[in-house]
This record gives sequence, structure tokens and C-alpha cells, in this order.
Amino acid sequence: MDDCLFCKIIKGEIPSAKVYEDDKVYAFRDINPQAKVHVLVVPKAHFSDLCDITAKDTGLTGYLFKKCADIAASEGLTNGFRIISNCGADACQSVKHFHVHVLGGEQLSDKMG
Ligand code: 5GP
Ligand code: ZN
Repeated sequence: MDDCLFCKIIKGEIPSAKVYEDDKVYAFRDINPQAKVHVLVVPKAHFSDLCDITAKDTGLTGYLFKKCADIAASEGLTNGFRIISNCGADACQSVKHFHVHVLGGEQLSDKMG
């Protein structure tokens, strides 16, 4: 997707603070962190949101969630962490490339909404 911000970040056309990369996923620090640790984990393939993912892609999404746990461990989030994926307007999704937020490093709010 030529006009997608996260596709540009994945390709290195826009700089980012990389946390992890392999052939399937890319992880980088959120530019406006909502917790002491705030990492975005994205598939390298473009999906606009969770609803854009089909049954044939579930292997990739399972892999991505496992990587979220690995990244949380490598970030030292031994006391817990939260993962969030905003999907659509009511959830205030602002970047239309499926991504998972990994938040932690401090006590998080008990409110999720
Ligand atoms: P959403 O609101 O779509 O769930 O999350 C998009 C996230 O992308 C936001 O937390 C926002 O701070 C982050 N973001 C937006 N633009 C950039 C950018 O250019 N670089 C980085 N690292 N994060 C960004
Ligand atoms: Zn994209």
C-alpha cells in the first residue's frame, strides 16, 4: 500500500525505533507512548484492520500474537502487560494497517474503554 504510514515505516521510508523484525512482522516504539513501554507490532503484509484478515491468514496472526508475548518478555514486562488492537471508527483506529499495541512497564488503568 503506497499511501500507508506503517507500510512506509516497514520499508524504512519513514524512520522508526525498531524493537524487533523478521520476515513476517515488524515492531517499533509508538511515537506517542501511552505507557512507559508502548510497542506497536505489525504484520509486514498490509491488512487494514482485524476484519481484513481472512481464515487463510490466521497462521500469521497467531504468529504475531506469540511475537507480542516474546517482545513483552524482551522488554522486561515480567509483571504483566496489555495488548490492544483498535478496529474501526468507534475504537478510534487512526492508522489503517492492522497493528497490536503492547503496553506495560507500569501499573495500567483498570479501565479499557
Ligand atoms: P491506532 O490509533 O490506530 O490504534 O494506533 C496508531 C498508533 O500509531 C498511535 O498510538 C500513534 O501514536 C502511532 N503513530 C502514528 N504515527 C506514527 C509514526 O509516524 N511513528 C510511530 N512510531 N508511531 C506512530
Ligand atoms: Zn500498510
